[in-house]
This record gives sequence, C-alpha cells and structure tokens, in this order.
Amino acid sequence: MEFKQGDWVRIEKNGTVYEGKVMPSMEGYITIKMKSGYNAGFSIDKVRITLLENNGEIANGSNGGRNGVKESKNVTEKISKPGLPKIAILSTGGTIASKIDYRTGAVTSQFTADDILAAIPELKEIADFKGRVISSILSENMDSDSWQNLAKAVVEEIEAGAEGIIVTHGTDTMMYSAVALSFMIETPVPIVFVGSQRSADRPSSDNAMNAICAARVAISDIAEVVVVMHGTTSDDFCEIHRGTKVRKMHTSRRDAFKSVNSLPIGTVDYSTGEIKTFIDYTRRGEKALKFKPGMEPKCAIVKFTPGADPTVLDYYISNGYRGLVIEGTGLGHVSTKWIPLLQKAGDAKMPVIVTSQCLNGRICDRVYDTGRDMLKAGAIEGEDTLPETSLVKLMWVLGQTEDFEKAVSMLREDLSGEITECTHK
Ligand code: ASP
Repeated sequence: MEFKQGDWVRIEKNGTVYEGKVMPSMEGYITIKMKSGYNAGFSIDKVRITLLENNGEIANGSNGGRNGVKESKNVTEKISKPGLPKIAILSTGGTIASKIDYRTGAVTSQFTADDILAAIPELKEIADFKGRVISSILSENMDSDSWQNLAKAVVEEIEAGAEGIIVTHGTDTMMYSAVALSFMIETPVPIVFVGSQRSADRPSSDNAMNAICAARVAISDIAEVVVVMHGTTSDDFCEIHRGTKVRKMHTSRRDAFKSVNSLPIGTVDYSTGEIKTFIDYTRRGEKALKFKPGMEPKCAIVKFTPGADPTVLDYYISNGYRGLVIEGTGLGHVSTKWIPLLQKAGDAKMPVIVTSQCLNGRICDRVYDTGRDMLKAGAIEGEDTLPETSLVKLMWVLGQTEDFEKAVSMLREDLSGEITECTHK
C-alpha cells in the first residue's frame, strides 16, 4: 500500500483500530498523529494499513521505501505559497530536528529546516518559508560563538526581507540562546525560538504543534525574541515567553518552559491560531534593525551553598575571568566568609551580579547584614533577573565595553526586558 506524510490512514493491529495522520517515520515503521494529539508508532510488517484520505503532495511512498514517507532535502520552492508572509526558518539541531537511531537507541539531530518544513504540511498554509541550516547539534554543545553565528544569520535573513524568523533549537539551552539574541539584536520582526521535548518518531511528540504555533507568532505583531512551546501537557495552546524571562523547568514534560517573574507575553491557540496577549510587548516595525555582536566568554555562575569554601572565587579571579554571577540564597545572600573574596573581585574590576537560587522574586540585599556587606563590597543586585539571563547579559555587556564603570551601569539597567519594575506572580 502506498501512503505518504500527511495522509489519513487506518491501522489495524491485533484487532484494535487506530486512525491518524502519517508523520515522519523511521524505516520499517509508520508513525501517526491521532485525533487525541498523541502519536502512535507501529512496525509496518505487523499491521494492516488502509489509506482513508490522500492528503500528501507527491505519491512517491511505498512500504518498500522509507515507509512511504516523503523526505526532501530541497523542498523550500515546493512549499512556498505566493502572497503569504516571508519567514526564514533557521535550524540549529536539537530534538525538534532529531529521531531515534534504532541501532543505538540514542536521539541524534539529523533533520534540516527543509526536512522539518516537509514533515509538517500545515506550515505551508501559514507562511512562505525559506530554510537555512546553521548547525545540526544538540544544544548542550552550543557556546557564545554559536550564539553570535546564529545572531549574524538571523540579521542577514531580516536584511534579505524575512518578515519573521523561526529558530529551531534544542530545548536544553534554548533560553541562553534566546537571551543572547535578545541583547545582540534590536528587531523590527518576531524572532521565535522553538524546540520539542520529544522527537518526531515518538508517541506524543510535540514538534508539529510547537512549530505550527511558532509560525503563527512569526507572522504576528510581536517583534521580540521569544520562545514558543507547549503551554500545558495537552495539545491545546502554546505559550509565548519573552526570551529574557523564560526557563526550562522540567526535564521531560511538554510544558517544560515557564516565564519566571513575568507573565508570558501571550498564548497561541493550536486549533484556531488565535493569539491572546497578557503584557505589553514591542510591536512589529517599532524598532529598526540593529546588530550589536560581542560576547565575553570568560564569565561564570557560582552557586553558594551552606559552608561553601569562598576560595572557589579565587580560581576565577586568578584565571582571567572578567565577571561573575552569584546564585545566592533567599533575597540574595552568601555567608560572611565570602565577603572579602567579593571585595577582592571588585578590586580586580570584575563585576559580580547577585541573583537568587529561589528564581522567583527579587533580590534585596538591604535587609540583612550579609546583604549590606555584599553591596559594600561592590556586588550588583540582579533585581528579578534569572541567573542564566544575568550570565548572558554579563557576557554581552563585557563584550561591548572594557570600561568597568560603564559595564556596571549597563548591568544595573533593564536592557531587554530582563528586569521588570513590578514582579508578576
Ligand atoms: N539535549 C537536547 C538539546 O537540547 C534536548 C532537546 O532538544 O530537547 O539539544
């Protein structure tokens, strides 16, 4: 039987009937997305497959090939529809571009942007896409050079006329890349990061819904760097998070991403595409495109724990580090023993930002003695900024200026929505 991606099929296995849309599948298997939103995968030689509705583009599939699922390396032309907004989709790797290698059981990044576009036929109704491969890596392998390469490519695409950008990215460090681009690019169009927690060939993969919601945001009025991912564990809506306020808060759930110390910018309804917003945001065209590259990699986060040896700070001071973020306790504290080392960092003209391991809430070092002593030693209160956001901000600020006083004053400012005046939640 011939079937291809996008077809509606009935599958009978041991007397049970399943119906759904054919998804990208591994050789010898068929994966379908059922009405419930869950995916199911079957070994082709153990089931009976009936084609119910032909919805694919090219009838080139057969059970003898790659499960009859169309795969293309160069589909951008075919999926373009004139008159729709022009969106560039930049792929970097991660689970959204991955499938299980059944020989090893490991998930590896193997799809390009064009493969992702071909795999999700609904996208062609939303925009006119151009695919571009930046890398095919798991996001734990990203570094500050990767952020800068990505930012440069995004800027080139906007200059070339893209009306919105989608960056497909591994979820583990997506928040760091989103923060880096938030500081490096002033954007007139949406820049949307999207990933998936479960690869395309797994039951309950979130890749298609996340990508479709991301496309809706990419053509919207929200001209900010945002992360768009599942809002709940169901296939109902995605949340739109500001790049500087978002964090991955769960290892495996589909709704792992949460805005911290802020409401999400809004939500996108999966079935209707409707976008609802909850807080103010920068509108399309409000800002002119501006690219401000530059990242100082020699910065680190140090987590304070009870009884922690303060000489750990000496390592950074004497090894050429240019800035530190401390994850303190509660309102932003370290023990009294750490104060002389903080003073030493200040004397070495090394900015030290204090954040809290509570994550939720705002730093206030004026309440307890230890906090006051930290401020006297020159520590900068990170306000309600996440530790990871503070780290990338520090790296970016130190990539912009050599002047210590100027760096400190930039670090105290809200530069890209990372400090909110009044903390939500
Ligand atoms: N380790 C993967 C990555 O961040 C996980 C994912 O993409 O969800 O690339």
